[in-house]
Amino acid sequence: MPEGTQRPVLLVVEDEPTINQALADRLVAEGFSVHQAWDGPGAVAAYETYRPDLVVLDVMLPGFDGLEVCRRIQADRPVPVLMVTARDEETDILVGLGVGADDYLTKPFRMREVVARIRALLRRVERAQQLAAAGSTEPALHIGGLTLDRAGRRVETGGVEVHLTPTEFDLLALLATQPGVVLRREAILQEVWGWTDSLGTRTLDSHVKALRAKVGADRIRTVHGVGYALEAVA
Ligand code: CA
Repeated sequence: MPEGTQRPVLLVVEDEPTINQALADRLVAEGFSVHQAWDGPGAVAAYETYRPDLVVLDVMLPGFDGLEVCRRIQADRPVPVLMVTARDEETDILVGLGVGADDYLTKPFRMREVVARIRALLRRVERAQQLAAAGSTEPALHIGGLTLDRAGRRVETGGVEVHLTPTEFDLLALLATQPGVVLRREAILQEVWGWTDSLGTRTLDSHVKALRAKVGADRIRTVHGVGYALEAVA
């Protein structure tokens, strides 16, 4: 992180004590300020107390689960959430993305991968804040019944506002830069998430599914083995 800025504040939520501590130790060593919680109610309380910049959130937790934690904290204010799931089940991942998680990892994960994902998410949030602060005067885009206001980060379909997560918005905004053109999955990952690896394409595919559920399945075309395109005409 740049010198002279405050250390980002992270909240680690994980009920397995050894994993929780290993994550916290590593993230402190990486220069983050870290708070910890071990169950659902504790996570919401810690979130309200510490106002973290990002939450690393296990799905299976005592009390109530990580999905419920995500719903409650996202209702308060948008905060980047990296969800961690023990099961590589698409339904869990889709529900997680639907309640506002920005990214997810499946266990077992490597510490350096967690750190890379956290840094990428924080960079993305910072970039969005800079764009908003710069008061972009770009006109809204109108593509096949979708209206996309990049400065205000708002999307409408058929005149009705659609609530997208920051990741979903960035993904849609990227596709909207070249309507009808197929963007390669690796290029999308690099641009939106800031990283590419073998797990990345599943992350992208899951986010596209969540996005389709919100803006209409027909709007985003899949080109198998290649990538995705936003349909220029609905
Ligand atoms: Ca757990």
